[in-house]
Amino acid sequence: MKVRFLGTNHGMEDSKTSKNRQSILLEIGNRSYIFDAGAPVVDILEKENYDLSRVKGIFISHAHTDHIQYLSQLCSCEKINAKIYLPDFDVMGEYANKYNRKFFKICEGAFYNDLFVKVSSVKTKHLIDWEGNSICHGFLIEAEDKRVHITSDMTPNLGDFPKYLAKGERVDMIISECSHPEITDLFEMLEKCNADRVAIIHVYPEIKYDELNSRKGKNDFELILPDDGDEYEI
Ligand SMILES: [Zn+2]
Ligand SMILES: [Zn+2]
Repeated sequence: MKVRFLGTNHGMEDSKTSKNRQSILLEIGNRSYIFDAGAPVVDILEKENYDLSRVKGIFISHAHTDHIQYLSQLCSCEKINAKIYLPDFDVMGEYANKYNRKFFKICEGAFYNDLFVKVSSVKTKHLIDWEGNSICHGFLIEAEDKRVHITSDMTPNLGDFPKYLAKGERVDMIISECSHPEITDLFEMLEKCNADRVAIIHVYPEIKYDELNSRKGKNDFELILPDDGDEYEI
């Protein structure tokens, strides 16, 4: 499978970079899947004449702007006939009022399987402090005997870092945020994991990139710091 980073920025408004906010495109053969819509996905893909009917699934981790802003663009695009999965009933209601589409709710555990890809939700506690029972989902994606985990946003103390990863269950790639946790705490968890590659995105403050860069080549996993447009074959 191929992982394309359409947006790698953090969620704060004061960013000095012009990077897009979080969105990841996964390609499995001729089928593709979008995880979060913080980037103008339709604009990006139309610019390269991408066949948008290839998109089979759209998955939104939580309703913060930096992850959902361009879902509207995806919903209004007639060429897209994908199944759209939203984090909870509130968000589903909001979008169902605006768009004549069917929306599906993400449930904890394995919730999507189209025989090409299986997606499971591993919830985080990112929203618990601020918004009561709103939900934030991390994703385990399994396809072609490969496994990729997207952490989504987590809590600063990482009490919600996925337990199965920290226990050393093997994955091919972990895509982690680095806005809420400190780098030292995050790497303490990542070092317990059994991952070939770790991609860090959603980094805030941006000065953290200095330390992240200095950690390259010093871990059991390959550390990558993707920029918008970067892609990796897994
Ligand atoms: Zn975020
Ligand atoms: Zn968030």
